Amino acid sequence: MLHACCAPCATHVIDVLSQTYNLTILFFNPNIQPANEYIKRSEDIKNLCDIKNTELLMPEYNPEIWLESIKGFESEPEGEERCRVCFSFRFKKAAETAAMAGYSNFATTLTVSPHKDPKVINSIGKNIADEFGVKFLEEDFKKKDGYKKSCDLSRKYGLYRQKYCGCVYSIH
Ligand code: SF4
Repeated sequence: MLHACCAPCATHVIDVLSQTYNLTILFFNPNIQPANEYIKRSEDIKNLCDIKNTELLMPEYNPEIWLESIKGFESEPEGEERCRVCFSFRFKKAAETAAMAGYSNFATTLTVSPHKDPKVINSIGKNIADEFGVKFLEEDFKKKDGYKKSCDLSRKYGLYRQKYCGCVYSIH
């Protein structure tokens, strides 16, 4: 079960993990705002999964539940507590979905981004995986030119590259 934050980051991670695993992609990102931005990103993950012939799960978009989860942390700077809560919120869904469907592992594409701290992501992912009885793949996918490869593949497939992380608080 691979939690995909967006199609560009998923390009390289799908290539890496599909060498070892049968992947299902989970696009669960109610942090993305506004709705037209969500639509752009969700259309491209569909396109990418078609290209890669990979199964895609896309729960209904409901930004309200995400806003509720980060209540009180709205004004935190990017990379701080609001982001940790945001990662946890999305990873819980991934771990729960993986556990319910009988998958043994879950992972995330988030460490492709040079703006994301893999230590934070891996620590949150591991704790949540333990809670749900699955294994989290602790990785830093930006390594070995991972970020560059994701940019090259995004261009090759003509994918939309967003200019901000996702929530309204990250629009600069
Ligand atoms: S900046 Fe990104 S990771 Fe942080 S809360 Fe907003 S959407 Fe989530």
